[in-house]
Amino acid sequence: MIERVAFIAMHTSPLLQPGTGDAGGMNIYLDRLARKLASRGIEITTFTRRADGDVDAVVPVVDGYKVVHIDAGEPVPLRIGEMKHLVGDFSDGVVEWIRANDVDFDLVHTHYWLSGIAGMRVKREFGIPMANSFHTLGKVKDRMRSASEKPSSAVRLEREQEVIRGSDCVIASTPYEFDDLLAHYGASPERLCVSPPGVDHDVFRPGDRWLARERLGLSGDPMVLYAGRIQPHKGTALAVEAFTVMEASMDDEFGNPFMYVIGGASGDQGREEMQRATDHAERAGLSDRVTFLGPVPHAILADYYRAADVVIIPSRSESFGLVAAEAQACGTPVVAANTGGLPYVIKPSESGLLVEDHDPRTYARAMQAIVEHHRFADRLGEAAVEQAKRFSWSATADRLMELYQGIVA
Ligand code: UDP
Repeated sequence: MIERVAFIAMHTSPLLQPGTGDAGGMNIYLDRLARKLASRGIEITTFTRRADGDVDAVVPVVDGYKVVHIDAGEPVPLRIGEMKHLVGDFSDGVVEWIRANDVDFDLVHTHYWLSGIAGMRVKREFGIPMANSFHTLGKVKDRMRSASEKPSSAVRLEREQEVIRGSDCVIASTPYEFDDLLAHYGASPERLCVSPPGVDHDVFRPGDRWLARERLGLSGDPMVLYAGRIQPHKGTALAVEAFTVMEASMDDEFGNPFMYVIGGASGDQGREEMQRATDHAERAGLSDRVTFLGPVPHAILADYYRAADVVIIPSRSESFGLVAAEAQACGTPVVAANTGGLPYVIKPSESGLLVEDHDPRTYARAMQAIVEHHRFADRLGEAAVEQAKRFSWSATADRLMELYQGIVA
């Protein structure tokens, strides 16, 4: 029987607002899963690096789920690249905390390669099994990256390999990530498994588009939405450029299209990408029709999904793509890159459209087809709701419990 699980998420805390800095899908995953498991009586302790001197060492979130802040380096936000040399101190801190509090964990589930390194130490010290979810893989990112992106560090690539070797189970989000682990990392298939993340259907559910627009104070003109961290890998500038191309080729009879960009600059190149995105809008003379909202919490984001005619996800790679699942759950068609987990999350040509290249004109054409053809859009939207039902945090928790039980046995 599994009673207590340690989550390790060194570089980012589940308590942070996604869409801010490095916080994104992984933070949602950690938080929703911990809540779900805690509601089933499994005690979850999530260890993260202290990035704020004022935050309490231990933050109880709900009954059975707490976040523990471990001191490693200055208690200030750091970029991922600045954390590599702190893994040793962080791991010491986790081990000390577990000893001092005398907690018997049944297993450790680590998130991202940095935490995988810490998890291997915990596994050794306490003789417990370890599962790891990468959430993103350096080699996959590198294969897909755009000319403006920096490659992954050699340290990351080596360490990912070590974490794969040291894990009792590596959890891929989709069968595509499973394939990537086999093809690019030579992982052994018997220690790989698939468990997709979920969607919070209480928050992300279909609703009337015009009421959502009214609540948000938006006009009835065609609306394109981008939601996610802003960085070159996510293709934020490409999304804005595609919007400007679409706007230029649409007839006036369809009104004045506008776009919302939700989320904040993320990572080393986030600000540059934000600048590129605003430059595209400015060059097209559309600065007043592209609004950068910054990070928005889920409760409000759901209304933006409902209000939009189409959500654009032009990422270079995505291990899953929660935004695609959430938008679909709200009944909004998605135009996304045919990459990573996106063709798993979206039913190609049925619940959304997949784009093969990184050309803004291809995205523009796909979005225009949706915006101008309401019956087509409605058909995609209905299929999107059905498709999103495949993903729920309950199903994720069921699957993970099965996997946990397997590795503990
Ligand atoms: N998100 C959010 N507010 C924002 C921007 C993003 O809550 O302003 C959430 C979004 O709803 C989704 C997550 O951040 O749950 C992004 O996950 P995804 O898998 O799409 O991308 P990742 O961040 O993992 O690359």
